[in-house]
Amino acid sequence: MLKNRTAVVTGGSRGIGRAIALELACHGANVAIVYAGQAEAAAQVAREVEALGSKAWTYQCDVSDWTQTQSTCEQIIVDCGTVDILVNNAGIVKDNLMLRMSEEDFDQVMDVNLKGSFAMTRHLTRTLLSSPHARIINISSVVALMGNPGQANYTAAKAGLIGFTKSIAREYASRGVTCNVIAPGFITTDMTAKLPQAAMDKLLGLVPLKRVGEPKDIAHAVLFLASDMGRYITGQVLQVDGGMRI
Ligand code: NAD
Repeated sequence: MLKNRTAVVTGGSRGIGRAIALELACHGANVAIVYAGQAEAAAQVAREVEALGSKAWTYQCDVSDWTQTQSTCEQIIVDCGTVDILVNNAGIVKDNLMLRMSEEDFDQVMDVNLKGSFAMTRHLTRTLLSSPHARIINISSVVALMGNPGQANYTAAKAGLIGFTKSIAREYASRGVTCNVIAPGFITTDMTAKLPQAAMDKLLGLVPLKRVGEPKDIAHAVLFLASDMGRYITGQVLQVDGGMRI
């Protein structure tokens, strides 16, 4: 399905990004894994990608750092030749109630979640535009559409990603490049592991399908949009949230 295509997945060392890297590799894509700090975890994902018969590369890069993303993307193009699929998945939370939220926590969350996606897209634009099957898939969150107390920074960044996606979709459409957003609901990963049981129970009460999502649930949606099955879809927000926001 994705044979001879190359995907770049940011935050591919664990959680949702890891599941995306493996799902794309499972369907034939070669994968460049961009990660922040866990070199061994990224190397392990690369080994798993290779075991599926695809090529894998790993790059340590802070997506919020313009210079690092620029040199990393240049190296990716040297190593991989072309890039067909970019999945902007790297993300962080720094939750706090508005009255206690620091400027630094606001800026960091914006820089990783929103500016990081801009930087990676900007630096890979030329190679993406030269691919006949180019796809950009940005990972937002259902809370960008609902708001969430304690997450003014995160929801602002993830909502910004939706506007960014729609603009890129319009700008690149004439070149056959699609750009879409996936808005996950509550998915079991390191990011949600620290939630107290009471908060988890409350969240589960909001999910009509009555279960938390798995990283694979998001990876399946990415595969759909990245493959030829998704070729006529652009500028859309695909909610993968068990019905949280019907
Ligand atoms: P996670 O914390 O398990 O993984 C985050 C990944 O992002 C890691 O690989 C980490 O290395 C990478 N990362 C963090 N900061 C980075 C930086 N500055 N530069 C490069 N990489 C960086 O989180 P996850 O749950 O797998 O989340 C993946 C994406 O899905 C995030 O964008 C998150 O906001 C979004 N999301 C998650 C949920 C959920 O319930 N887990 C819900 C909605 C949206």
